[in-house]
Amino acid sequence: MYADMKGSTHVLAPPEIAVVAIPEDERVWVPQAPDVWFRPLMLNTMQGQWCNLLRVRRSGVLSRHLHPNPVHGFVLRGRWHYREHDWVATEGSYVFEPPGEIHTLLVPEDTKEMITFFNITGCMIYLDENNVRTGYEDVFTKIDMCRRHYEACGLGRDYVDRFVR
Ligand code: FE
Repeated sequence: MYADMKGSTHVLAPPEIAVVAIPEDERVWVPQAPDVWFRPLMLNTMQGQWCNLLRVRRSGVLSRHLHPNPVHGFVLRGRWHYREHDWVATEGSYVFEPPGEIHTLLVPEDTKEMITFFNITGCMIYLDENNVRTGYEDVFTKIDMCRRHYEACGLGRDYVDRFVR
């Protein structure tokens, strides 16, 4: 940062976020389904985008979904794949998911835990095997889930605000 920027219009920039991604406090993980959690990192209400870690401690089909916008992923632990593709995302893998693709996330049986960073814009549209919509998520449903969980677990409903921009 340039010294002469201090006190300039950059004071209007929103505060940065720097957190240890895998938290020490287990309560930071928000339960999403049995043995599935997400950990919010940045919840961008201006662009309908969110960054989070997804943690899965079960194998089999996790979800079948469509996202109308691109998704970027980075695997921190474990492995997973999409039924529709031959590749497997392993620890250290980067994944780009193009807009409009429908895929089915599977965690292999030998994987006790997978943790993946996802940067998602827009929404996730959940589908059944016949491509009928069963639900959706966006940055606002994510914030709501965080509020409910953080209130219930004692961190307080405002705990999520530190991730919201
Ligand atoms: Fe996807």
